[in-house]
Amino acid sequence: MPMRPMGDIEELKGRGVDRHVARRAWGLTHNYRKRLLAFVGLIVATSAAGVLPALLIREIINRAIPQGDTSLLVWLFVAMLAVAVAVAVLSMVERWLSSSIGEGFILELRTLLYRHVQSMPIAFFTRTQTGSLITRLNNDVIGAQRALTGTLGGIVDNLISVTVTLATMLALEWRVTLVAVALLPLFIVPARIVGRRLQVLSREAMGVNAEMNSVMTERFHVAGALLVKLFGRLDREVEAFHDRAERVAQLGVKQALTGRSLFAALGFVGAIATGLVYLIGGFIVIDGGLAVGDVVALGLLVTQLYGPLAQLSNARVDLMTALVSFERVFEVLDLPVPITERDDAVALTEPRGHVTFDRVSFRYPAAGASALASLEGPRSEHGEEASEWILRDIHLDIPPGTMVAIVGPSGAGKSTLSSLVPRLYDVTEGRVLLDGHDVRDLTLRSVADAVGVVSQDPHLFHDSIAMNLRYAQPGASDEQIVRAADAARIHALIERLPDGYDTIVGERGYRLSGGEKQRLSIARVLLKDPAVVILDEATAHLDTESERLVQAALAETLRGRTSLVIAHRLSTVVDADVIVVLDRGRIVEQGTHTELMARGGLYADLARTQLVGSPARTP
Ligand code: ATP
Repeated sequence: MPMRPMGDIEELKGRGVDRHVARRAWGLTHNYRKRLLAFVGLIVATSAAGVLPALLIREIINRAIPQGDTSLLVWLFVAMLAVAVAVAVLSMVERWLSSSIGEGFILELRTLLYRHVQSMPIAFFTRTQTGSLITRLNNDVIGAQRALTGTLGGIVDNLISVTVTLATMLALEWRVTLVAVALLPLFIVPARIVGRRLQVLSREAMGVNAEMNSVMTERFHVAGALLVKLFGRLDREVEAFHDRAERVAQLGVKQALTGRSLFAALGFVGAIATGLVYLIGGFIVIDGGLAVGDVVALGLLVTQLYGPLAQLSNARVDLMTALVSFERVFEVLDLPVPITERDDAVALTEPRGHVTFDRVSFRYPAAGASALASLEGPRSEHGEEASEWILRDIHLDIPPGTMVAIVGPSGAGKSTLSSLVPRLYDVTEGRVLLDGHDVRDLTLRSVADAVGVVSQDPHLFHDSIAMNLRYAQPGASDEQIVRAADAARIHALIERLPDGYDTIVGERGYRLSGGEKQRLSIARVLLKDPAVVILDEATAHLDTESERLVQAALAETLRGRTSLVIAHRLSTVVDADVIVVLDRGRIVEQGTHTELMARGGLYADLARTQLVGSPARTP
C-alpha cells in the first residue's frame, strides 16, 4: 500500500471528494467489469470456504468418532482434502484474475497519461520538474492499480470472512461467540494505533529513502562525480551518505518491530480468546449443553476472526489512501490541453509555404493554466499572471520561397515570434496564416509536416544515427537517409564512425560536437522536407571548418523553401530577401541590408557590432 501523508487523507475527507473520485475511478474500470465481478465472486467463495475445515472437524469429533463410523471418517477426510484442493485452485484463478486486471489497468492508465502529458504545450515542460513528474506518475499508477485489486479485494475478502465466521459461530453457540466478540476492543484499539504508527513509519522511510536515492543519483552522475573528485571530498561524501543510510537502517528496524508487535498482539488476543472459548465452552459441555466437536470448531473459528477484523478496522484509511492515488492521476489527466486540433480541422496538402503574421500580439500564458503547482520548481512571484506583452501588433507577409532574417536585441521576442508558426504557442491576438489558413484551423499533423525547425541546440534521442534521422520520416530508405546526410555535409563523418549509421548517439551515446549535431539535425529536417524552415542560427562561433560545413548544409536546407532565420551573422542577413528588425516586441524596421544601412537606425547599430551577441536595449 503506498503511504501518503495523513494530511492528504484528512483533506480528502474534509472535501468530501472521495465519492466523486471513487465514481470516476470506477468509470475507468469499464473494460474490466466482468473480470472484476468474477474476481470478487471468487474471493467470496474462497473466504466463505474458510469455515469449512472447522465444520468438518466438528463432524469428525461429534459423529464419526463417537459412532465408530470409519467410512464417514474417511469421507470427511476426503471432503477436507477436496476443500483444500478447491481453495488452492480457486486462489490461483483469483490471483490470475487480479494480476491480469491490475496489469491491464496499469497499461491503460499509463498510455492515457503518456498521451496526455505528450500533448501538453511546451509551457508545461518548461515549468515541470521532469523527475518528479515521472516518479509521481509511476507511483500513482501503481497505487491506483493496488486500490483496484489489493484494497478492494482485501476489503471484500475480510468482510466475507468476518461475516461467515461470525454467523457460523453464532449458529454453533451464541454465548461463547458473544464472549469472544466482547474481547474485540481489546485487540482492535491497539491494532488501529499500531496500524497508524506503521503508516507514519513507512511514510518516513519512503522520504528518507528518496533522499538517499537523490544523493546517489546526483553524485553518480558524471558532473557530480567530477565535482566530488576535483574538490577531494570523498571522505566527507561517504560520511554524509553513511548518516542517511543509517537513518534508513534505523527506520527499517523500527518498522520490523512495530509490524511484529501487531502480530504478537494478534497472537496474544487470539490465544486468550481460544482459551476462553474452551473454558466457557467446556463448562457448557460439562452441563450437557454442547458437543465437544462444537467447542473445537468454535476454538478454530475464533482465531480466524481477529486478523480480518484488524484489517477491516483500517479499511477506511486504506480506501482513502487508494483514492488519493486516483485523485493525483486525475489531476494530471485534467490538465487542460490548450493547443488542440479543432474537430473540423483541415489537412494542408502540398503546402507552398506562404506565412503571414496578421496583427499578431502575444503574451506568455499564466503558469496556472499549463502546470501543476506540485510538480513545479519554485514558482516566481508572477507565476500566476500572464507575462507582459512580448509581441505587439506584428504584421508580416512572407511569400513562398522567401528568406526573412529576424534581427534585434536580446529579449526582443525573436524566438517567441518564430515559435508561433509551428504552434508551440498560440497567438493571444491576431492570426498566423499558413497558405492563407489560420494555423489553428489546420490539423496539428499537417502544421508539423509543413514547418521544420533547426534549433541552436538540437536534441538527439539515445538511439542510432539512422533511427534519429528516420524520426523525421519513418519509412525513409537507406538511400534517402544517405542523401539527406550527404546534403547536410555529415555523411563523410558518419561513414568514419565505428558503427557508421548504427552508431548510438544522444546523451549517453557517442558524443558529437556542436557543429556535427547541428548538421545531423539539418539532415533530419531535410528528410522531412518541409515547406517552411525556421532556423535559430547558432550564436557561438564554430571553428572555421565546422562553420563552413554548417553553412553549406544550411544553404541546402533553405533553398526553395520559405525561411524564417533568427540571424546572428552579418553574412546571413546580407543574403536575406527581407530583414525584419524587432525591438521590445514590435517591428521597428524592415527592408534589405542596403536600405536599412542607409537609414542608420537600430539595424545599422546592430550591424556595426556584427549582430552577434547584440546586447539587450535598456528601456
Ligand atoms: P535572444 O536573442 O536572447 O534569444 P529573443 O529575441 O529570441 O532573445 P525571446 O526568447 O523571444 O527573445 O524572449 C522574449 C521575451 O519573452 C523575453 O523578455 C523573455 O524573458 C520572455 N519569455 C521567454 N519565454 C518565456 C516564458 N516561457 N514565459 C514568460 N516569459 C518568457
